[in-house]
Parts: sequence; structure tokens; C-alpha cells
Amino acid sequence: MRLVEHFIGGQKFSGTSSRRGDIFDPNSGEIQAQVSLASAEDIAHAVTVAKSALASWATTNPQKRARVMFEFKRLIEDNMDELAHILSSEHGKVIADSKGDVQRGIDVVEFACGIPHLQKGAYTEGAGPGIDVYSMRQPLGVVAGITPFNFPAMIPCWMAAIAIACGNTFILKPSEKDPSVPMRLAELLMEAGAPAGVLNCVNGDKTAVDAILEHPDIKAVSFVGSSDIAQHVYVKGAAHGKRIQAMGGAKNHGIIMPDCNMEQAVKDIVGAAYGSAGERCMALPVAVTVGQKTGDEFAERMLDAAQNLTVGVSTDPQAHYGPVVSAAHKAKIENYIQMGVDEGAELKLDGRGHSLQGYEQGFFVGPTLFDHVKPDMRSYQDEIFGPVLQIVRADTLEEAALLPSNHQYGNGVAIFTSNGRAAREFASQVNVGMVGVNVPIPVPVSYHSFGGWKRSAFGDTNQHGTDGVRFWTKIKTVTQRWPDGDVGDQAFIIPTMS
Ligand code: NAD
Repeated sequence: MRLVEHFIGGQKFSGTSSRRGDIFDPNSGEIQAQVSLASAEDIAHAVTVAKSALASWATTNPQKRARVMFEFKRLIEDNMDELAHILSSEHGKVIADSKGDVQRGIDVVEFACGIPHLQKGAYTEGAGPGIDVYSMRQPLGVVAGITPFNFPAMIPCWMAAIAIACGNTFILKPSEKDPSVPMRLAELLMEAGAPAGVLNCVNGDKTAVDAILEHPDIKAVSFVGSSDIAQHVYVKGAAHGKRIQAMGGAKNHGIIMPDCNMEQAVKDIVGAAYGSAGERCMALPVAVTVGQKTGDEFAERMLDAAQNLTVGVSTDPQAHYGPVVSAAHKAKIENYIQMGVDEGAELKLDGRGHSLQGYEQGFFVGPTLFDHVKPDMRSYQDEIFGPVLQIVRADTLEEAALLPSNHQYGNGVAIFTSNGRAAREFASQVNVGMVGVNVPIPVPVSYHSFGGWKRSAFGDTNQHGTDGVRFWTKIKTVTQRWPDGDVGDQAFIIPTMS
């Protein structure tokens, strides 16, 4: 059986651990490969290698680092089809979604191509008599990224492309569920001209994550995954003196106003709720309708749209979405559907027990729709992360807006309306990090930054954009003067520039 090992120092590395995880084909439900699960010694080895690559990479001039990124971008583009097929085969999302995942990664690599400008410092001439002040952004050293299963191309690029462009050397610990695309990306970066040891990919589970968090030579860790683990990473990493950003789970709401373009809103939300089997942290699993008439119309149209979705294998070009990632995740989603029923929500469409001919053991969940969901239900409060849309009824925009604002998660939110003033007020007031106005999945473009609020993100910098450059660098400020004579008493005075 195929074994996915590690990639350290520009080559495959077997590691010291005999522990292995299974990589499934979510379409068939069969194990297609295994992945080595790193020990703490394997992480230590990767850190030693990354440290030995650091001095020369950190002092490579920024244009040369940018040229590696330009070439990396070209290579990812050239290998798009291969990457998308590997991604679909391990994750289960359809090829079009896998290509979108890779493209979003490319967008961040493209942003990182601008590193000479992005990392430039600032200079003030004559801040005092004969005194100039300049600041520079220096790399942190050996840094790490820990990524989830649901975007195995985009999220490693969010972290590694910017960190490496800034002159750091990097240890990537991808999800053990679908590690092959991150491994391939590490190979492609070497092919693009990054020296060996600049990007190391170490596969593993909690053992590897804890070893990263405890290692004294890893200076910063970026994490994306579920909230409890994000919080663990944030607390433990900070206790070990590291800079940490840790993005967590989500439960994004879409507010449907009576004056929206209903046809467009339904079309948008069906894609945002069910696309990628709902396994997106920016999916839209809650629709809050304002007013009874809007609610009734939305529920009817959405039922019709959801019933017409095609669930298929990930290579089926006609399929709107494919299987979920694992049998355990399928069971979790189905348990939440039962919970919704038990809590008294109205189940309009039940995706449990969805079976596909010829793929009876695949991890498929059919589109599921609940109406009259209430905010005190646990099935509403928790993240389900599956193809389940919950409709909550509200009477006014004020009432509707309180729902995302008061929810434990605050990743994304959207409002569908033709009233600019209401949308503007909503965007300004809602207690959520990323807002869409008639945009169902408001994932910011690479040169803006990505990050939620509340339990959707721990730490104070976002992913990519200039926030990414800030996270992966430390600022140093130099105040200098070149006195040409006797400075007398002035020598011992703290300069105030007054
Ligand atoms: P996960 O939390 O199970 O795993 C994420 C990473 O943590 C993986 O690399 C995994 O190996 C590691 N890990 C798992 N258990 C661990 C433990 N006990 N201790 C330490 N490390 C552990 O998440 P997932 O299921 O891979 O991904 C889905 C989750 O990620 C969802 O909650 C989704 O909302 C979230 N997500 C958030 C964002 C965002 O930007 N906010 C983006 C994508 C996904």
C-alpha cells in the first residue's frame, strides 16, 4: 500500500515512528494509502534541518526570494490538474472545487511575489537634530503551520508562501486525512528554487502538534482547524513563548431581507450551504429570514433547489458536491441531524442514509434542510460542517442581526438586500470578522486578510494580506546619529526630539 512519509531537507524522510494513519478514498470508503505519524524526534529533526537552512535563506535578497515565488506560482499552475485530482481523491470535493482550492493558494503565492515591497521598512530623515530613524521587518526564524483537512492547498499556501517569502524557514504539519497535496507543494517549491530545508512537510497528529508547540527553536505557529484545538494551540504555544495565530470553527449566517433578489439569494445560498458538502469554514449553514412571507418563500424555493442537487463521486463533472471526508465525520453530521429532529426543528429534507449506486460504502450525505430552527437548540449553536442548512425565522433585521452577533463563532456573515443603507449599517455593527453584502461566501482576496472573531480565531493577526507579513516578521527600529564633535551634557539625555 502507498505510504506518505515526510519531506525534510528536500527529500523524502521515513521518520522514527512506526505509527501510521489511514488515508481513505471518501468515494469508495476504502483505505487508499497510509501516512506516517511523526514522533517528537521527527519534529526535532525537521527543526534542525530548517535551522541549518535559515541563515542563508534569511539573507537571500528579497528579489531572489520573490523570484522563487514567481516560479512556484508557475509550477502550481502547470500542475493544476494533477493537484486537483489528488486533492479530490483524498478529500472528496469535486474537481471544480479542488481547482478553486488550488487557485486560492496560487493567489496567495502571487501576493507573496510582492515581498520586496511588502517587507520594506520605513525611514524618517531628521527625526531630531542629525537623527534618522529607520525600521525593518526581519524574519522570525524557524516557524510552523498546522493545517486542517478541508483546504489542503489553499491553507498551506496562506501560511508557508508568506512566511517563506519573508525569509523564514518552515515546518508544515498538514492534516493527516489528506496530506498528499501539501507534500506535492513542498516538492514544487524546491523545484522552484527554494533551497533544501526551507519548506519541510512533517505528517502527523496530536503528537506532532504538541512537539511543535513545545520545541524551543520554533518561533511562531499558525494554526487553522476546529476551535477547541485552536484554543489548545493558542494557550500551549503562548505558554512556550511563541507567537501564535489560531483560526477555529464557524457557523456563518445569511440574513435574507424581504427586499432581496430572492432568486439570486437562493441560488447563492444553495452553493454556499451545500457546496463542498458544507465542509468550508466560510460555508453558509444558517439562513435567517426576516418576516413570515420572506421565510415561507425562501423555505419553499430552497427546498426545491436542495432537492435538485446532484451528489456524486468527486470526479463526476455533473455532481454539485461529493462525499464528506470520513466515515466518522459522516456519522457526526447524521447525529446532528437527529439532534435537530429531537430538539423540535422541522426537517424538510433528510440527507441521512444517502447511498450512491456502486459506491455504497462511500461517505455521502444528502442535502438536508431544517426550518423553524431556534437559537437555543444545540444543533444551531454547534458547527456541523456538513451539507445541512438551518432556517431561523426572525421578524425584524434587528432581531436577525443579533443571531450572528451573539453566536459563539464569528467567522463570516452575509446579508441579502437591495437596501444599501441597511446593508451598510449591518456591516458596520455586526459582531463578525468577515461580511458579505449580497456575497454568500465573503472570503477576502489574498491582498486583504482572512480572519474571524470570537471563537473563530485566537490571536490578533489575520491570515495573508499585510497582516500575514506582520505575523511572520518582527520589527526592528534603529535610531541613529553621527555626531561630529563634543556632545557635552546631551550625551546622557533620553532623546525626546522636542
Ligand atoms: P481539526 O481541528 O480536527 O484538525 C486541524 C489540525 O489539528 C490537523 O492538522 C490535525 O492533525 C490537528 N489536530 C487534530 N486533533 C488534535 C489534537 N487533539 N491536538 C492537537 N492537534 C490536533 O480540524 P479539521 O477537521 O481538520 O478541519 C475542520 C475544522 O477547521 C472546522 O472546524 C473548520 O471550521 C475549521 N476551519 C477553519 C478555518 C478558518 O480559517 N477559521 C478554515 C478552514 C477550516
